[in-house]
Amino acid sequence: MLVSAKEMLDKAKAGHYAVGQFNINNLEWTKAVLVTAQECNSPVILGVSEGAGKYMTGYKTVVGMVNGMMEELNITVPVALHLDHGSFEGCMKCIEAGFSSIMYDGSHSPIEENVANTKKLVEICKEKGMSLEAEVGSIGGEEDGVVGAGECADPEECKRIADLGVDMLAAGIGNIHGKYPANWKGLSFETLDAVQKLTGSMPLVLHGGTGIPEDMIKKAIDLGVAKINVNTECQLSFAEATRKYIEEGKDLQGKGFDPRKLLAPGTEAIKATVKEKMELFGSVNQA
Ligand SMILES: [Zn+2]
Repeated sequence: MLVSAKEMLDKAKAGHYAVGQFNINNLEWTKAVLVTAQECNSPVILGVSEGAGKYMTGYKTVVGMVNGMMEELNITVPVALHLDHGSFEGCMKCIEAGFSSIMYDGSHSPIEENVANTKKLVEICKEKGMSLEAEVGSIGGEEDGVVGAGECADPEECKRIADLGVDMLAAGIGNIHGKYPANWKGLSFETLDAVQKLTGSMPLVLHGGTGIPEDMIKKAIDLGVAKINVNTECQLSFAEATRKYIEEGKDLQGKGFDPRKLLAPGTEAIKATVKEKMELFGSVNQA
């Protein structure tokens, strides 16, 4: 059964490790993440962006697939199904569809609107036993081919949003989505430390986990990060393994064109990346 992310993240924050959110795109992705979490005896968060939700034909399909898979694969570790960077409307749809966790990304709205919408969602999530992530200070990344630098959140605004009763908070600390540019300045631990001091036991979320050096990840966990989002890295692993399979001409040998064979190396590559991250984040055997 899907669970809210609240308990696993409170435990992670207290235990000084982080739970990975791995974004899913299709059946192979979902299966790879669930199986690896079970093998690693680790709690896990399945992230679904609005785009990926649409691609998988809608949130109800996603809920049906994940619930069915958990039952038939005998997944017993805690699993949260979480909307990533949701609009207010997207959040409402996922609540209705049976997600167990949502992120409301009001970071592009004026702070007053972010506060008002977050408040409404806090009420609904409490009633439904779901967890809610809020964001302050937008996370940078590639938009229309331009890589923006990651913003740093205002710690006072973070406290204001945290005090509304959300379960986890994404605060921009110079992190960005996608690959990091060569001239990236690194995470702002000063901002993270200031946010952590004002928000206390609130689990903090680090978006854009792909390509952040290991020592920075560890330091971020020490400073209160309890959830780390990984998306691009699984995509790169999947693409690289699939490319290799085709370049070696394996799809042309025997029944190598069978989609179950064609997609297998990529799926295995996702599993390896997820396992590596769970080890780095310290969530192995914390289920
Ligand atoms: Zn993000």
